Amino acid sequence: MGDHSFDPNIQHIHGYEDTPNLEWVPTGYYEGCGAVDGSQYCEINHTIYIPENDIDLAYWYGDGALAYIVAHEYAHAMQTSRYGTFSEDRLTELEADCLAGLYLAYIPNVAFDDDDVEEMTALAYDAGDNQWFQDHHGTPEERLAAVVRGMRAASDGLGIEGCLYL
Ligand SMILES: [Zn+2]
Repeated sequence: MGDHSFDPNIQHIHGYEDTPNLEWVPTGYYEGCGAVDGSQYCEINHTIYIPENDIDLAYWYGDGALAYIVAHEYAHAMQTSRYGTFSEDRLTELEADCLAGLYLAYIPNVAFDDDDVEEMTALAYDAGDNQWFQDHHGTPEERLAAVVRGMRAASDGLGIEGCLYL
């Protein structure tokens, strides 16, 4: 890991006023942007919803994978509220994967071991092309590369510049 002498909280990266709400909900829970069948960020109420089916899926890989899902949706919140870069396309999704890797690498006082990193990247890899917004997330290889790129952007000191506008 690189230099963490700055405030490493992910809220600080983007400005605290933009921190989204986070809700763990039953699969199919209906609120804000409609039925929550998969993890999503809802712009209307600035809330990240993580449904039970995704929690179950993540734990099949390990706890690192659940952290990755939350970070990916947090990235969508920032793409929407901070950068205006969100659209349902492949590059947006890969940028979110990269930012997720960056956020996870920046979490203070948490050291992800090799198993955690493998869990995150395995989920990102397997989720290629077949999850969330179908066909918009990129190939397994692209998603894996994006997460790793984000983690490297943290350790290299590039920060979000290493992910935005790939
Ligand atoms: Zn996404």
